[in-house]
This record gives sequence, C-alpha cells and structure tokens, in this order.
Amino acid sequence: MNHDPNCIFCKIVAGQIPSNKVYEDDDLLAFHDINPWAPVHILLVPKRHITSMADVTMEDQALLGRMLALSPRLMRELGVDNGYRHVINTGADGGQEVMHLHLHVFGGPRPWKKG
Ligand code: 5GP
Ligand code: ZN
Repeated sequence: MNHDPNCIFCKIVAGQIPSNKVYEDDDLLAFHDINPWAPVHILLVPKRHITSMADVTMEDQALLGRMLALSPRLMRELGVDNGYRHVINTGADGGQEVMHLHLHVFGGPRPWKKG
C-alpha cells in the first residue's frame, strides 16, 4: 500500500494535515515533531506507507540509506552543530506510536525533555 487513508503520517505526506516541513523530495519528507524531546527534533519519513522497520525489505535499502544520509545535512541546516541522536522505534514493545516508519533525529543544547 502506498497511502493508508487512516495513517496520520500519510495524511501529512498528502498535505491533509499540516506540518512544519524541513525537507521534501519525491520519496522522503522531513518535518518537525509536534512534541519535541529536544530543541530540534525532526522526523524523516518515506512518502510511501511502510508500517515499521519490521516491514522493510532489501528493496528498501536505498530509501533507508537516503534517510540516514540526508539527516546530517538537515541537522546542519537547522543549526545543530554539537551532536544529535537517531532513534527508530519498532512495534509496540519498541515504543512505536505512529505506525508509519519514521526516523527521529533530535539534538540541540541539553537538557532535553527526553532521550
Ligand atoms: P513514535 O513513538 O511512533 O516513534 O513517535 C511518533 C512521534 O510522532 C512522536 O514523537 C510524536 O510527537 C510525533 N507526532 C505524532 N503525531 C504528530 C503530528 O500530527 N504531527 C507531527 N509533526 N508529529 C506528530
Ligand atoms: Zn502511512
């Protein structure tokens, strides 16, 4: 499935729910987390609906690589110059709340609310 009409991040990708966008191309969207754990907290999502890391296949390796490889540039552009963390939560026990694959990247001066 490319678009899940019940998925909040698919709605963000489709522009049906507003977001504070950081980056967009044909395959990826990055936007600020609505409830940031740190001064800068962005989410990178594939535009295509992938439920979680548990659903990833080898066909997705370029997409996942691009999500990771893009993140340093975005954090630099957002002025984060003293380090940051990447987090991907998978499934219920992994703490995943939104069932559309997303990479959290957060940083900025500590203290942070979480992480
Ligand atoms: P998870 O626990 O699934 O890894 O994280 C989901 C993240 O999505 C949370 O950090 C939460 O704040 C964020 N989030 C949930 N709904 C929205 C939304 O409508 N807009 C934005 N920008 N972030 C959201
Ligand atoms: Zn989705």
